[in-house]
Amino acid sequence: MKRLNGTIHLSTSDIVGHLNCNHLSALDVRVASGLLAKPDHYDPLLEILRERGYRHEQAYIEHLEARGYKITVIEGFDITEEAVEATIEAMRKGKAIITQGALRYNRWSGRADILKRVEIPSDFGDWSYEVIDTKLARETKGGTILQLCLYADLLTDMQGVAPDHVYVVAPWSDYEPQVFRVADYAAYFRRVKTAAEVAVDQGSDSITYPEPKDHCTICRWRNQCDQRRRDDDHLCLVANITKNQICELQANGIATTQALADMPIPIPFVPRKGSPVSIEKAKAQASIQVQAREAGELRYELLDVVQETVLAVFEELRPCIRSDHRHSRAHGFQGQPAQALRNRCPQPDIELLEGKGHVLPARIPKVLHVPRQIMRSDFTEPNRVHIGLVLLLESVNRSHRLPRSFGGVSVN
Ligand code: SF4
Repeated sequence: MKRLNGTIHLSTSDIVGHLNCNHLSALDVRVASGLLAKPDHYDPLLEILRERGYRHEQAYIEHLEARGYKITVIEGFDITEEAVEATIEAMRKGKAIITQGALRYNRWSGRADILKRVEIPSDFGDWSYEVIDTKLARETKGGTILQLCLYADLLTDMQGVAPDHVYVVAPWSDYEPQVFRVADYAAYFRRVKTAAEVAVDQGSDSITYPEPKDHCTICRWRNQCDQRRRDDDHLCLVANITKNQICELQANGIATTQALADMPIPIPFVPRKGSPVSIEKAKAQASIQVQAREAGELRYELLDVVQETVLAVFEELRPCIRSDHRHSRAHGFQGQPAQALRNRCPQPDIELLEGKGHVLPARIPKVLHVPRQIMRSDFTEPNRVHIGLVLLLESVNRSHRLPRSFGGVSVN
């Protein structure tokens, strides 16, 4: 996103960003308008993914070369006047494959991985171009389709004819592109594109909040957004709370974790959606988190084991975990026992962590079934996860019961 001559110009990453989070668009508008500094963000994992993506793209281009295609590369990274002109020139000459083509029309622009000549007439002659994108993901996401639809939209304006199809090349596909018909997604694309433009035109006046999204884990704004939620003591900090529950609570004047922890039981309102019991569960969770926060230590509550739940599976595995405690680290679960544990695990919602490759404290079993919620929870640093697991195991072994939650994390 950039402001040029008083207008904010958008790129393919902005449409995907808006699809993921409207707060992201609002923050980027403020940066483009000079009201906010761009976040200083470095994520080594993202760097690795970028590098792998680049290698996959290069491998596909080499594959095309090996099949006899001549490759025309548009140099540079930005969408400059020169890069757009060079792309139009290559298209006018009817080049077979153009990589990193710079596309622009009105306020939208983007760099397409690959433009491939097809024998369909356009303003350039008896040929035109379609877009191929290389992606690492095993499944093509909605954001990828939108991005490709935007390239197709820009191409339509540049070559005078709409591409029929766009293509995605995944690493597992043996370089066989997946085909997507542009017309099938056109209405959806127009809707999201218009929404992104409206959000940008609202500028810094738009009121958004950093509600947690899947995209937060890779978002450059994640530190700022996380801090804002913590400063606000927002209800989304309560482990396992749902969006519906947050809406119900906010509608009834309960807007912070502390307020939820302090809420009397029975709850003083009738929820329009969901049951009072589920709200009471959220309140119990908030209470233990507030207690842990005030005490400055991890807290947990013990629950009876309920059959057919994750806890029941944990209970079933407890003898294995305890037996591992009796062994030294050198005799931890390995090979066949690990497989045996995996075979015994009847619930797909359980993750198996293996010791190899993990740096674990001495008393942590090398193989352990952990409810997914633990790994996804408030524990953002690996060490806190490990410490939490030690406490969990100690509580299991000491009391022969399973905790409802620890460190503010529900495990049921
Ligand atoms: S961190 Fe999450 S809430 Fe914040 S801008 Fe990014 S996606 Fe949106």
